[in-house]
Amino acid sequence: MPNPSLLILPGDGIGPEVMAEVRRIIDWFGANRGLAFDVSEDLVGGCAYDAHGTPLHDDTMARAQEVDAVLLGAVGGPKYDDLDFSVKPERGLLRLRKEMDLFSNLRPAQCFDALADFSSLKKNVVAGLDIMIVRELTSGVYFGEPRGIFKEGNERVGINTQRYTESEIARVARSAFDLAMKRGKKLCSMEKANVMESGILWRDVVTEVGRDYPEVELSHMYADAGAMQLTRWPKQFDVIVTDNLFGDLLSDLAAMLTGSLGMLPSASLGAPMANGRPKALYEPVHGSAPDIAGQGKANPIACILSFAMALRYSFDQGGEAARLEAAVERVLADGLRTADLMGPDGGTPVSTSGMGDAILAALDASQ
Ligand code: NAD
Repeated sequence: MPNPSLLILPGDGIGPEVMAEVRRIIDWFGANRGLAFDVSEDLVGGCAYDAHGTPLHDDTMARAQEVDAVLLGAVGGPKYDDLDFSVKPERGLLRLRKEMDLFSNLRPAQCFDALADFSSLKKNVVAGLDIMIVRELTSGVYFGEPRGIFKEGNERVGINTQRYTESEIARVARSAFDLAMKRGKKLCSMEKANVMESGILWRDVVTEVGRDYPEVELSHMYADAGAMQLTRWPKQFDVIVTDNLFGDLLSDLAAMLTGSLGMLPSASLGAPMANGRPKALYEPVHGSAPDIAGQGKANPIACILSFAMALRYSFDQGGEAARLEAAVERVLADGLRTADLMGPDGGTPVSTSGMGDAILAALDASQ
């Protein structure tokens, strides 16, 4: 069997800095856990524009379609702000998401005990929190037609259309149920079936798909009530599935329950490939942080946890993913802090590579 393949796209700003730490961790799993990957690296974003005049070269796009998983750092920066819209760094990322048809966006909200003081909520509400929001990413009101600003009599009217087909709902529901099976077997679907027909259809289809997953406890909630419940007692949830618009809001809300942007990973999954693995792009939620780029200040944990998600969701290595997450937890419990994590409890300041060193040492100790 050939090694599983990974395409690494570090991108711009702090992207290459945080990805360098991930590369060391990938190497560690190859050397110590018999988990070798066939790794290739390429350009995306501003650096690809500098090299090729486009934020994503066709060859890179083709490679992304072939590999088992893509791992991306971040794109963008002030140097590229004045570029034409069609070649802006973000267009490279959008092209990847679109052409790989990544319809299921996974955003975990996980609170490491050592960082519970960073949350705006009380410590007992967030400590130990571990939920996953699955957001539909390629349809719904951001894409539905008709859309635009039209003239109606004497005034303008702005129109966007919430539109979902049964198959679009079913495929993201299936991906959420599959995920629930790998976690706590509890899924809450959120929509506004009380006021939106698309919400009624959403609820119907999710319920139908649920018949194939009798082990998963399915519940439904209106999305506005869901937002309240997420801030009141988030630990009542395990996996949440919702549409593009509500998912946009709810995943940001849930993520921020846990503190710093430098800690948040994400995955975007598409349809299964011939080998059964889903098309997949893993990336930290944060951007290229030009304000701290090149200074060794970036927190690599969001990108490292994105690789942990790849281990779990692309490579069925849940045990090894848990090993990596436990190593991160160990280091945080020991008080090591990149600049973004320096909070009320003080802590020992470390650089980007210092954090990588500590996580590697914790991995060594885990064996
Ligand atoms: P940003 O996420 O880059 O930074 C916001 C703030 O968080 C900054 O103060 C930054 O220093 C800090 N921060 C972010 N990640 C951090 C980390 N890992 N460690 C420590 N601190 C961290 O968002 P922004 O400033 O709005 O955008 C900067 C650039 O990134 C823009 O060009 C934007 O378009 C781009 N961007 C890219 C992505 C992506 O690649 N997915 C996402 C968001 C923004």
